[in-house]
Amino acid sequence: MSFVSVAIDGPAGAGKSTIARQIAGQLGYLYVDTGAIYRTVGLYALRKGVDPHSKGEVVSLLDGLQVRMKVEADGIQHMYLDGEDVTNQIREPEISRYASAVSALPPVRAFLLEMQRELAETQNVVMDGRDIGTVVLPHATVKIFLTASPEVRAMRRWKELQQRGICDRYEDVLRDVIQRDYDDSHREIAPLRQAEDAVLADTSDLNLEESVALLLNIVKERQG
Ligand code: C5P
Repeated sequence: MSFVSVAIDGPAGAGKSTIARQIAGQLGYLYVDTGAIYRTVGLYALRKGVDPHSKGEVVSLLDGLQVRMKVEADGIQHMYLDGEDVTNQIREPEISRYASAVSALPPVRAFLLEMQRELAETQNVVMDGRDIGTVVLPHATVKIFLTASPEVRAMRRWKELQQRGICDRYEDVLRDVIQRDYDDSHREIAPLRQAEDAVLADTSDLNLEESVALLLNIVKERQG
């Protein structure tokens, strides 16, 4: 039996996780936020006091690393680091930078690849990330490249942080967004890019509801 996989890639703050979660809910598929997996590795590097850019230091951590993902009764994907629920901790801005750094290391990507593929082999999934359509699930049923302008994405992230009581300046959030776009699309391994057979969805001028409707339409059309 083969399962349906919807791969959603795009830059930071394009609304991937919110939109992907909603369409997964409507389709009855499992939602997998792969960024959360890299964030968990980033948090581990931070806690161990290693330089997240140092391949040697990070690789030496992988042996003892236990990352697990589970959708709990609240319907949210929880991340576990050595058995500890770190779902909230991995959302700190500092962890974004650590996640971005460790995700540029090939051994880290190789370490996490099978984990991601296995999830799509056993159930219908909506998976979001940077390289799902290009590397993780090259044969995904539907591929979408979700984007929006850097300013719109920074504003969305800034509001999200404010709601959580994190009062970063908008200018700093924008600078982070631009820096992460650059890092994610210029790294040697699995750079952020649109797969040739992916549909481009730009949500700069769309609200959440309109974005969800757009993506559901793309999925339905592609599934025939
Ligand atoms: O999507 P999110 O911002 O949570 O991802 C955190 C970081 O993990 C990103 O900056 C990106 O560098 C990395 N990532 C990745 N590949 C994925 C998902 C995320 O390299 N599939």
